[in-house]
Amino acid sequence: MIENKKLTTTELVDYLGSFQGQTLTIKEMMGDLQIKEEQQRAFRMMLSRLCADGTKGIKIKTIGSKSGLYKILTNITPINTLVIPNSKPIDITFPYGIDDVSGFGFEQILEVDEGDVLVIAGDSNSAKTAWVINMLAANMDKFPCVLMGNEYARIDNQLSPKFVRRMKRMDWVNWENEAGQLKFIILPVNEDYEDWVQPGKINFIDWIDIEENLWLIGRIIKRIKHAVGNGVAIIVLQKGRGQILGRGRDWGLQMADFYVAIDPLGQYQRRLTVQKAKATKGYLDGRMWGFDIIDFGTKFHNIREIKKCSHCYGKGYTTRGDCEECNKTGYVDV
Ligand SMILES: [Zn+2]
Repeated sequence: MIENKKLTTTELVDYLGSFQGQTLTIKEMMGDLQIKEEQQRAFRMMLSRLCADGTKGIKIKTIGSKSGLYKILTNITPINTLVIPNSKPIDITFPYGIDDVSGFGFEQILEVDEGDVLVIAGDSNSAKTAWVINMLAANMDKFPCVLMGNEYARIDNQLSPKFVRRMKRMDWVNWENEAGQLKFIILPVNEDYEDWVQPGKINFIDWIDIEENLWLIGRIIKRIKHAVGNGVAIIVLQKGRGQILGRGRDWGLQMADFYVAIDPLGQYQRRLTVQKAKATKGYLDGRMWGFDIIDFGTKFHNIREIKKCSHCYGKGYTTRGDCEECNKTGYVDV
């Protein structure tokens, strides 16, 4: 927690809400919430009050005879209707190579439903924005789309010239309708995304900036998921180089329906890894694709499935020096 600020019950309930159906030790909780030594007694009191009182929005209970281990129960709502919810799959298009028609093929394997959250985590210069703009271009004629992010617009409510140049370089895209208006909405926000998310639309959020209290990522994504209703949210997260997951790690992963991480591949290419997917027609978890971004960061190119090089085990070198099998990248085409 922030210096000298006391944890409130609402904050604790929000935090625990990200762990429904799971167990947590009191040590883990205190670590995540940065509870200081002198606050520990009060924290234990709060927890036992929550245990006794199930009306605060989350139900928890102690597990086993030793104290310190808690189960966070899954929130359930009583069902009182026979009506089947008519949530339908959403025919979303992922980025693909315009010139060589190469693609990831997620459209054929992945099931995207109303209310889903798709997360793209990558370090700087990892094609995250290229991903967002290409997906926007590929979907804005099919669905109403909203683009949120502080790097697209200036403070005077004009589009950033850099973004306009980037859009114009994508000469295969018609960004405007017959009336000369953008086919999507840009909201120049950089916080409180859950309050700006538009239900029923494809909401692109590039990107969620969070420096501390990383567990908040889970809470923010959960609120976005709730706010998006029958739409879809596509969220970009920052990722440290070499990290498997983006900022907020497991907290982001838990709430996401689809989670991909983008890393460098060799000097100029990128490698995408699927960390989590609801794949109904085949498996996706752990599969990787290599790709290029060409034409000043606008075009996907040469997307193909890759795997770890069996010669150097993904390192790009062996005891004898550079690995020639994979051209020092550590990965080879499947
Ligand atoms: Zn190799």
